[in-house]
Amino acid sequence: MRRPAVGRGTASPLQRLALLLFRTRIMMGGPLSIKNLNPLYKVNLKNQLYGDLKSKELPSDRAFLPGCVLFISLALTGLATWYVFSLAETKDRERFQNIVQRSQNAIAVRIDTYISSLRGTAALFTATGRTDRETFHSYISRLELQSHYPGIQGIGFTKRVPPDQVEKTVAEIRQEIPSFKIWPESPRDEYHTILYLEPQDRRNRAALGYDMFTEPVRRAAMERARDTGLAATSGKVTLVQEIDSEKQAGFLIYLPIYEPGAAPETINQRRAALNGFVYSPFRAGDLLVGIFGGETRPRVDFEVFDGPEPRPENRLYRSREADPDERRPRYSTTTRLNVWGQTWTLLFTTRPAFDLGSNRGVALPIFIVGSIVSFTLFGITRSQVKARAAADRNAAELETLNRVAISLSAETDLQKLVQIVTDAGTKLSGAAFGAFFYNLIDVKGETYTLYTLSGVPREAFAKFPMPRNTAVFGPTFRGEGVVRLDDVTKDPRYGKNAPYAGMPEGHLPVKSYLAVPVLSRSGTVLGGLFFGHSAPGRFTERHERLLLSIASHAAIAIDKARLIETAEQEQKKAEESERQYRLLAEVMPQLVWTSTPEGRVDWCNQRWYEATGLTAEETLGSGGLKAIHPDDRQRTRDRWRAAILTGTPHEVEFRLQSPFGGYRWYLSRGLPLKDASGRIIRWFGTCTDIDDRKRAEAEAREASRVKSEFVSNVSHELRTPLNAIIGYSSLLRDETFGALIDDQKQPVEGVLKNGKELLNLINNLLDLSKIESGKMPVDLEKIDLVPLLEEIVSGMQPLIDEKSLSVVYRMTPLPEIESDPNKLKQIFVNLISNAIKFTEKGEIILLATEKPEEEGIEIAVQDTGIGIPPDELARIFDAFHQADATSTRKFGGTGLGLAIVKELTGLLNGRIGVESELDKGATFTLFLPYRWKEDDKDPQKG
Ligand code: ADP
Repeated sequence: MRRPAVGRGTASPLQRLALLLFRTRIMMGGPLSIKNLNPLYKVNLKNQLYGDLKSKELPSDRAFLPGCVLFISLALTGLATWYVFSLAETKDRERFQNIVQRSQNAIAVRIDTYISSLRGTAALFTATGRTDRETFHSYISRLELQSHYPGIQGIGFTKRVPPDQVEKTVAEIRQEIPSFKIWPESPRDEYHTILYLEPQDRRNRAALGYDMFTEPVRRAAMERARDTGLAATSGKVTLVQEIDSEKQAGFLIYLPIYEPGAAPETINQRRAALNGFVYSPFRAGDLLVGIFGGETRPRVDFEVFDGPEPRPENRLYRSREADPDERRPRYSTTTRLNVWGQTWTLLFTTRPAFDLGSNRGVALPIFIVGSIVSFTLFGITRSQVKARAAADRNAAELETLNRVAISLSAETDLQKLVQIVTDAGTKLSGAAFGAFFYNLIDVKGETYTLYTLSGVPREAFAKFPMPRNTAVFGPTFRGEGVVRLDDVTKDPRYGKNAPYAGMPEGHLPVKSYLAVPVLSRSGTVLGGLFFGHSAPGRFTERHERLLLSIASHAAIAIDKARLIETAEQEQKKAEESERQYRLLAEVMPQLVWTSTPEGRVDWCNQRWYEATGLTAEETLGSGGLKAIHPDDRQRTRDRWRAAILTGTPHEVEFRLQSPFGGYRWYLSRGLPLKDASGRIIRWFGTCTDIDDRKRAEAEAREASRVKSEFVSNVSHELRTPLNAIIGYSSLLRDETFGALIDDQKQPVEGVLKNGKELLNLINNLLDLSKIESGKMPVDLEKIDLVPLLEEIVSGMQPLIDEKSLSVVYRMTPLPEIESDPNKLKQIFVNLISNAIKFTEKGEIILLATEKPEEEGIEIAVQDTGIGIPPDELARIFDAFHQADATSTRKFGGTGLGLAIVKELTGLLNGRIGVESELDKGATFTLFLPYRWKEDDKDPQKG
């Protein structure tokens, strides 16, 4: 294993970050030399890939849309709420003003009413001049003050008493009311005394005799009434009737009464003519409750102050005690009321009940509904924008994927290809950096790992080893699936390996981790894509899916690139081996050729051109036929066609022209090269010069023919005298020329026997030479073999009987064949006589079976004789060959029989074979075709 060639340099933080991912969990090792790698990063490639990826991302303006929608709809809601609210507010204000106005009116009207009653009472005095107590009482009681004028304490009359008449007046009144006195009693210029005060209740009785002129507040009102002649209201006082502990604020209204008949015009006249006052004391609380007491659910509170300012000490009345817990009133207003010369300040404030009648409440639901609608709209818009953004992003991603796929499909350079994959993966995952570790196989068949980087410069990684099958990296390299970690440092698998046990010192933290195996179609792991980011939780399921897609594209592209690489290597190998075999073909002495499966010669070695004198143009295709002897051409063409059609080996002999004139014999052989499915890819062939052999064969044939002819001639010549010798010696033996003496008989017999044997030998020799010289004709006939065999056997019966042998027939029905019966007879006679000759006991079996698949029949002659030694079997058919040299002596014979059988069999287009086991017998098997055909033998070979 080679160590990576590492260079120790200073790495930038970014570089360190990249390295961290891979050093985090690695063990040392990896047969990679970084320096051997080409720089892969191609800027133009990147641009082509991602040039406008950025522009496909979510347009930033659209991100504001939900906010805009929310703002506008909230603004509209606010506007509507404000409008409804202000409308209600205006209405409420008007309502309040109405109430204030009505209340004010009610007070004024009521006071006026009281003043009317005072005027009525005053009229009593002006009309009658003087009124007595009785009249006053009955008049007032008729007014029914308590029921009609609530709040009024009563109506009274206070008389002006000049100081000189005080005693007289008191004395007069004491006649009616003994305890009467004018009080206070201090001496003064002008006395007034309450003379009557109705109704005569406990409170009012307490007031009798009181001089109101002594009290400044009352006096001010009395003087005003006296001087104007009109009613006058006093300021706030505590009535003298307030004799109980619970005191109310009070006031009084005076109406001046002048002397009867007087109509004073000026102030002085009025002062002079003043008789007294008709007046009414009021308890402010009782009066105002009387005015407003009917309201069951007052919506407004009010306070009445004496004077132009609402000073607490001047308070005449408050409709309700102040509640410190109560929230501030919605409205409050201060008005002033002139009550007959006295200014009252009225302070009105709304009560919570006032709001019940308000439409203001509508604003809130409008606001709520509007807000809900606004936020719903916001949500909808936001989700729409998000969906749109997601769709845009998906489209952009899809486009990137497509571009990657297209780029990958066009790329066959493995290194460029993996760089595209790494860049695309890094871009799509939003990783800070990415790497692709991929496995390669070197020429020795060993795998080794290379890598590409994206997001960090390559040098940054140079000094780090390859990641190995640790707990974190292992699943990816084993192709088990995606590993996605939000924070790799928190993963239980993290930090368990030597030497670093986690991140090596000096590395920036890697948190987000995403690794995807790249698997080929066959399931082998081609490598792994790794992505990292320093922030946690950066990778989502979407990234995972995108990267799986990238990984599958990568796998296809790598598979393809490898395939192409392999194909190129194969091609190179093929070219190399072609060069080799061409070279081999050139050094061979033979003519070498190749041809297409269709039989067109596409290449010949140099020897061909030298031997034939043809050029390549003349030869290639089927032009080579020109060089073949015209007599051999058709045959050669037929053979070649048959070989192409059947795909069987081609073999033919022909004569080829020689550039030096004449023809030479060649043996042409061709073999088809077939693919796995048996289809012929190409034919390879040679032409071997056999001219010398052919010539020798021809010469040998000629010599043999001459020999046979000679033997034949000699035999003929020998037979004539031999026949004479046999004829004469048989006449001698038959004692035709007279009786023989005993000593003569045996020699004569010897002459006859040897003569016959010699004749037999000569006949055989003659036969053999006849056949060999090609002079033996074939006479065809239809033959039924069984009778033929029976005939032969019966002819040999004496010999069979002599040895007490038996002949057995084992035959299936045989068809007639067409052959030469005499030659067949000669064959069987030879075979059967040998069987008899070499068998002492047992049987001779004749077997015959049909061989339709070979279009012929098979006849076997089997015996139970001495058998043939195995080493003799091959030579037994040679002429003059006998298995045992003693054979002739023991069994007789010439050693020509089987040679003749062999030759005859060949002549009849049959074949013969032998099987034997020593001492157990021999079996000669003859095959004969159904019909004999003229020369089935290859004339080229013969
Ligand atoms: P021959 O005239 O000597 O029989 P053949 O040519 O007929 O000549 O036979 C050659 C030799 O083959 C024989 O000498 C013998 O040794 C052997 N041979 C032939 N037929 C038989 C047989 N049926 N059994 C044993 N040996 C045989």
